[in-house]
Amino acid sequence: MIASIAYVKKTLGELKAKKKYGQNFIIDANTVDKIARIACDPELTTIEIGPGLGALSEMLLKYSRDVDAYEIDRDMYELLKQNITDERFRVFLGDFLDADLSIYKEKVNVCGNLPYYVTTPILFRLFESELDMKKITVMVQKEVGDRLCAEVGSEDYSALSIEVQYLYDVKTEMNVSRNVFYPMPQVDSAVISFTPKRERDRQFEERFFELVKNCFRMRRKTLHNNLKDLYDKETIDRVYSELGWNEKIRAQELSLDDFIKLYNVLY
Ligand code: SAM
Repeated sequence: MIASIAYVKKTLGELKAKKKYGQNFIIDANTVDKIARIACDPELTTIEIGPGLGALSEMLLKYSRDVDAYEIDRDMYELLKQNITDERFRVFLGDFLDADLSIYKEKVNVCGNLPYYVTTPILFRLFESELDMKKITVMVQKEVGDRLCAEVGSEDYSALSIEVQYLYDVKTEMNVSRNVFYPMPQVDSAVISFTPKRERDRQFEERFFELVKNCFRMRRKTLHNNLKDLYDKETIDRVYSELGWNEKIRAQELSLDDFIKLYNVLY
């Protein structure tokens, strides 16, 4: 069992966990088992981001057809190759942001205990990729999870929450205490899943996400004030009268459906 403090300390040996790669290893078997059950399908490949010493990889292998893991740190890569010999496990050395994902022609699952310093770029790499994903299941810092899952009206609700929730059913699967990592991080984590919920239309997305970002440009301003810088008075009057909105309304009070309505009236 890789997810234990004894294994992690023994295997790291003289090596130290590298801060610059966001290395915090899971040392609780129950946690990795739960994540893998959420993330995997027995008939599909799971792509793992940042396998480290392989605590999660071991469980992903148990519940998937096979596992392709991408690890940036050569030390981890060498240890993994020695320690996980199952031929259903492939490990690639390199930055996941540069990985060639066009090799995947079939549906896949994606999972990882993400390095905190590069969480958002990795998520956007996935969201913007052409991968046919059944589900993405990732461990992130709890505050990042709160932003991704934020509901309309809450403090964390932002253009990011709307964009992500437009594309995916986003769910907080579980909260994870900082105590199950070695070395112990400063904050708790959460496991978040993303299940695609619609056909992709990149052209629409580009324009829609641009509009959403503009609506949040000055968070303290009313929506009316944010729109005033972008559209003429006639257009704005038409929007407010067609939608029956009050001029005092702010972007953070609008649901995803409201943003879609706004887009449809504007274009
Ligand atoms: N999966 C292991 C676990 O849960 O115990 C390790 C998780 S640790 C939080 C993050 C891992 O991602 C580290 O092994 C780190 O070296 C690796 N990593 C960091 N940046 C990466 C990148 N850009 N691409 C691929 N792996 C990366």
